[in-house]
Amino acid sequence: MLPDFRLRQREYLLEISRAMSARLDLSSLLELTLKSAVEIVAGQAGLITLRRDDGEMVPWASIGLPIRAVPLFEPLWRDLGKDTETDAAADISLRLALASRAAGVQMRQVVSLPLQIGDELIGFIFIFRTRGAAFSPNDRHVLAAFADQAAVAVHNARLYQQVSAERERLNAIIENSGDGVMIINPYRIIQTWNKALVNLTGISAEEAIGRPCYEVLDLRTKQGGSVCHTTCPLVHPPEDGRLYAEGLHHRADGLAITLADNYSPQTNNEGKVTQFVANVRDMTRLREAEELKQTLLSVISHELKTPVSIIKGYAGTLAREDANWDKATLADGLAVIEEEADRLDHLITNLLEASQLQAGGVKLKLSLLSLEDMVRTSVEKLQATTEKHTIKVSFPANFPPIQADHERLREVVTNLLGNAIKYSPGGGAIEVGGRLGPANTVRLFVKDEGIGIPPAEQERIFERFHRVDNRLARQTPGTGLGLFLVKAVVEAHNGKVWVDSAPGKGSTFWVELPVGQ
Ligand code: ADP
Repeated sequence: MLPDFRLRQREYLLEISRAMSARLDLSSLLELTLKSAVEIVAGQAGLITLRRDDGEMVPWASIGLPIRAVPLFEPLWRDLGKDTETDAAADISLRLALASRAAGVQMRQVVSLPLQIGDELIGFIFIFRTRGAAFSPNDRHVLAAFADQAAVAVHNARLYQQVSAERERLNAIIENSGDGVMIINPYRIIQTWNKALVNLTGISAEEAIGRPCYEVLDLRTKQGGSVCHTTCPLVHPPEDGRLYAEGLHHRADGLAITLADNYSPQTNNEGKVTQFVANVRDMTRLREAEELKQTLLSVISHELKTPVSIIKGYAGTLAREDANWDKATLADGLAVIEEEADRLDHLITNLLEASQLQAGGVKLKLSLLSLEDMVRTSVEKLQATTEKHTIKVSFPANFPPIQADHERLREVVTNLLGNAIKYSPGGGAIEVGGRLGPANTVRLFVKDEGIGIPPAEQERIFERFHRVDNRLARQTPGTGLGLFLVKAVVEAHNGKVWVDSAPGKGSTFWVELPVGQ
């Protein structure tokens, strides 16, 4: 049978280890250790000092001593441990007498033990008696177990502090990274969601963390298919081993952005994946630019090639020496060449304008302008190109002249009229006219009886290179630049443009412009 005090010592030590695993803070742990140690060696007070980073020893926990008296016990640990060779106990009674007097507290006996982690001295534990016999070697022996516990507690606390500091540092790096960073567990549940991702997606960390990434990001293909569900590289590892996914993320505010995720797996000692760190980048601009380049190339190759080959064909035919062309055939052929050259000219102007717009907005040359005169001149020219359409002009008598850029507005009218002709392949009536608008504005309209535009396309047709995808559009030459330019020019005049249309019911394009000074 164990002696009674041994049993109690065990119980105390057990209690201290339990407290340690419950992660009590360092001061409470040291107090608990002191309290148990004092009791087991039948003392009345105790003190633990710890060495700071700069080597200075400072009191850290005490029991049975008035708080204000604790620092006055400093003679006890002064120089202790600086030279560990000297026996600390040698003059400790003298030191105790000095300290007791300074503190005004009567302590008669003291026992002290160093707290050590390996070879490193990290502090001392002191236990005091106010009365009774001196501490025995056995007391010192018993106390050693408590000193060890205190040393382990300090060691753990320091490790914990280091780990927390390191984790905070890592968190700060992740949190402030310019790229979106998302950490997910092997089941694709989001663990970390940094600030850049919040800004990118409009989804807060609280909303994202704890949910599966395929629900939160829900990347889509252009056609609307789910990237996350069908081709996630974490579920369907690709042959080249590259853990990469890209797709459209539809934000709550309606904006669609292209996101690219690069995953790097983190493994444990056994090579098992514990988590994936995903770098999330916004590829919207890049992809748009690439797409634009692609479109531009195909538009140029297609649209420029057609008129050039027609011109070349006609010129070659007309120039044949063996053919004796009559005047009428010659005139017809030359007319076609001129028409195609005009088309080329129009196309090149549009392309140049579009790139100018991109480079720095539209600079207007304003002058007083009669829209009606300008419209009539344009109509005359365009009417000559078609027999199937009749173009009617209608302006009210009181229609005012406006301040505008003549050249640019002529392009607007030409583009709108050209479209009205192009997109009413069956012919019909076209009406161009003016109306007085609200608040010192005028309105210009171009109305046709053509194929019309589906509602979903009515905004998009003003985007650069956008064309409605139907059979007619595919067969009709065009670049998708005309309305983009119309909108840019009209907006540069502080005006606006819109369309009223329904498929099969024709379209009316409206341009509203301020009259100006
Ligand atoms: P383009 O005519 O060169 O294709 P635009 O920018 O002028 O380019 O027009 C964009 C698209 O809008 C056209 O491709 C066509 O699908 C549609 N569109 C424009 N005007 C009309 C119209 N009057 N009627 C029907 N569709 C039109």
